[in-house]
Amino acid sequence: MNLADTRGRSLHDLRISITDRCNFRCRYCMPREIFNREYEFLQRELLLSFEEITRLTGVFQDLGVEKVRITGGEPLLRKGVEELIAELSALELQDLTLTTNGSLLSRKAQGLADAGLRRVTVSLDSMDPEVFATMNDVDFPVTDVLGGIEAAAAAGLTPIKINMVVKRGVNADGVLPMAEYSKGTGHIVRFIEFMDVGRSNGWRLDDVVPAQEILETIAAKYPIEPVDPNYAGEVAGRWRYKDGSGEIGVITSISQPFCGDCTRARLSAEGVLYTCLFAVGGIDFRAPLRAGATDDDLKQMITDLWTQRTDRYSELRSEATVDLPKVEMSYIGG
Ligand code: SF4
Repeated sequence: MNLADTRGRSLHDLRISITDRCNFRCRYCMPREIFNREYEFLQRELLLSFEEITRLTGVFQDLGVEKVRITGGEPLLRKGVEELIAELSALELQDLTLTTNGSLLSRKAQGLADAGLRRVTVSLDSMDPEVFATMNDVDFPVTDVLGGIEAAAAAGLTPIKINMVVKRGVNADGVLPMAEYSKGTGHIVRFIEFMDVGRSNGWRLDDVVPAQEILETIAAKYPIEPVDPNYAGEVAGRWRYKDGSGEIGVITSISQPFCGDCTRARLSAEGVLYTCLFAVGGIDFRAPLRAGATDDDLKQMITDLWTQRTDRYSELRSEATVDLPKVEMSYIGG
């Protein structure tokens, strides 16, 4: 099945947030001024159950979804996540992956692999302990995340992708050390342009380091060349080292928007479906799920939503759009 939207983009990737909670307070995602002790996170009964997530994923699969990414908040905080992975793995999707801050990976990597997880993406914004602690704002040691990456590699959750959000004046000096950390390891670092997701991270265009500048920084020391995408709609632009020691990626939502072949839908932990990372609203699937909707009812809802989709926020981004009441990334995952 190939469900296409108004721009001919097929529904191929489903990102599923399974919790809005996190043990980090990354400044560009969950600044602690807002996500503090008073902040009301989703109560357990509001979260989709693993059965509901698996059933809904099966419905999406019938409509063409082949790749599922589990996100959060921090998904490894959700109790029994391995059970969900096992249920989703039984659907025999083309790809089943998970994005984590790596804090619990040392303990969980082998169990996730045994449950059927294919790969992991680890968010790691600096190799420098002080900068890393400043960015995650909980003083979590970078060495523990590096240990988690090694545990994931040992468990076979490869290739491991590493996401670094680059912010000028904060961690931009860490681009080369991050490239050197992954060079020759098989891990793939993706350098992400700082984005105006949600409306609580104080985004300014001046804080963005364009991908071109990042690539030039690396190329000045290690010659690189562009590589074709693995598939249409792949998020990161691929580059490889000319000496054959691996590849890196850049995610360029600000400088080179890629909405033209965006094939991603996002489901929040409480069952609201969004068709863009920068959406201001979504469609509730929990109520119909719990009210006895059939799979055909759910398919019709998804079909109606996707076939009318026109999203292209990054192409339209301007000063006027930055403060729109966009959904928070910690709520729908990246
Ligand atoms: S801005 Fe929206 S439509 Fe564009 S690539 Fe991102 S998620 Fe897709």
